[in-house]
Amino acid sequence: MTEQLYYTDPRLADFEARVLQQEQNADRWAVILDRTAFYPEGGGQPADQGQLNDLQVIDVQKRGEEILHYLPEPLPGEAVVRGRIDWPRRFEFMQQHTGQHIISASLIIAAGYPTISAYLGDRYTAVEIDSDAIREEEIVAAEALANRRVSQNLPVHIHWIRPEEAENYNLRKPPPDVERLRIVEIKGVDAAACAGTHVAATGEIGLIKYDGLEKIRGRLRLHWLIGERAYRDTRDKDRLVAALNRELTCGTADILASVQELKNKLREREQRISQIEKLLAEQRAQALQDRAESREGIRLVGESFVSEEPSYVQAVYQNLLDHAKTVACILNRREADLQWWVGCSEDLHLSWKRILPPIFALIGGKGGGRDRSWQGMGSKPEGGQIFLDTLRKAIWDQLLGAKNG
Ligand SMILES: [Zn+2]
Repeated sequence: MTEQLYYTDPRLADFEARVLQQEQNADRWAVILDRTAFYPEGGGQPADQGQLNDLQVIDVQKRGEEILHYLPEPLPGEAVVRGRIDWPRRFEFMQQHTGQHIISASLIIAAGYPTISAYLGDRYTAVEIDSDAIREEEIVAAEALANRRVSQNLPVHIHWIRPEEAENYNLRKPPPDVERLRIVEIKGVDAAACAGTHVAATGEIGLIKYDGLEKIRGRLRLHWLIGERAYRDTRDKDRLVAALNRELTCGTADILASVQELKNKLREREQRISQIEKLLAEQRAQALQDRAESREGIRLVGESFVSEEPSYVQAVYQNLLDHAKTVACILNRREADLQWWVGCSEDLHLSWKRILPPIFALIGGKGGGRDRSWQGMGSKPEGGQIFLDTLRKAIWDQLLGAKNG
């Protein structure tokens, strides 16, 4: 049996104990001491970390009445060891645990939502409520109430009781079926059976901040930043705001208006650019049309763009198809691939199905289309020129061959 020092003195971070037993467990060693301040994983709280002598404690687990400290290698044969707990980490979890009790109580009082389960993570504490919706003002009310409980600096009492005594406490949820119950009571605020470690008074929690929610299996999980974490989050956001002040050269109160103004400007510019792009595409299409290869009144435009904006290339292509008796073969060659558009004006008839698929291999191409316009991609941009030449020949063969035949 291991004496649980974290219950008699939750602030104990440095202690001595006798080694009772050591056993190998896969590639780790489990050490059992006569007493320990290391909290084993349980009640939603992760195991403490720290050292036994100079060895890192990588995990702590409960097995019946014993507590197993897992080490990466065995302890040399000393009878007495010194244990040191990673205190900042443990204290953070004491803040989380106590904070979670207050949050759960506040969610009931301020908004009427009971807690289904709680999770104390390394980044945030999550409280799952029995509801699939919560209003913003309910969250604000619960958060404000929780912080009021913190500033009242209420003492946190621990009581070990028999199950039949549980009715003397207004427990927030039914207690587990065990011989002795450990009740964590914040007088007038909350009482719950809990095996975790807690701060001595609520003032030690410091600050409680709501940090968003997620929906899981039809219920809501509210995320909370408690204690040091809430402070760090506030400090990080202050820095972010200061950086925004510098970037936008404005005061904090004007950040939102400034971003909205930027977005509006950007939208106007985008509209202007798209108008200019349209004009440019018309002119480019006309220039291509003017110097296109021409046979028997039909013009064949074959052009290769290099890493051009796809929307612009497509606009040039569409413009070409608006000209009478025109066939357009347009490529946009980029570093790793190419885009292609192939089509003809309404007054021409070409079977792309017979022309295109047989020469796709030249560009590692794929794609498709309907009637007179096809488009797609190619994985071999280096094959672009030969693809264009072969395409041109096949088009003339089909157009003129059909006419002559
Ligand atoms: Zn607790």
